[in-house]
Amino acid sequence: MDCVFCKIAAGEIPSKKVYEDDKVLAFYDLEPQAPVHILIIPKEHIASAAEITPENSSVVAHIYEVAAKLAAEQHLDDGFRIVCNAGKDGGQTVPHLHFHLLGGRSMKWPPG
Ligand code: 5GP
Ligand code: ZN
Repeated sequence: MDCVFCKIAAGEIPSKKVYEDDKVLAFYDLEPQAPVHILIIPKEHIASAAEITPENSSVVAHIYEVAAKLAAEQHLDDGFRIVCNAGKDGGQTVPHLHFHLLGGRSMKWPPG
């Protein structure tokens, strides 16, 4: 499949990994938007948050567990943000479900 994050999950495109298990992979974003900017993805190809179903949703809970563990490891003790952009209006540019873990600076609200 011609999907950049499937290729990263398969090791066909290199990435700076921070966590991996049989279900998910976490790696540093190429263009960090905060001092800590990690992407957490399911290894299974799910196109976006619009494609989450009762059959595949357990990986999302697992991703949030991994995010909490990584936030602690990265010393994001003052807080952090988890972002999942979905579709055109959501600003999604890579059509493989991913969660941005952002921290190390104060975040603005509402997002642009
Ligand atoms: P989106 O805009 O879809 O929510 O987020 C996609 C993110 O993936 C962007 O922050 C972008 O910098 C990152 N990204 C795109 N291609 C690559 C890549 O090949 N490697 C890494 N590490 N990050 C990527
Ligand atoms: Zn994919």
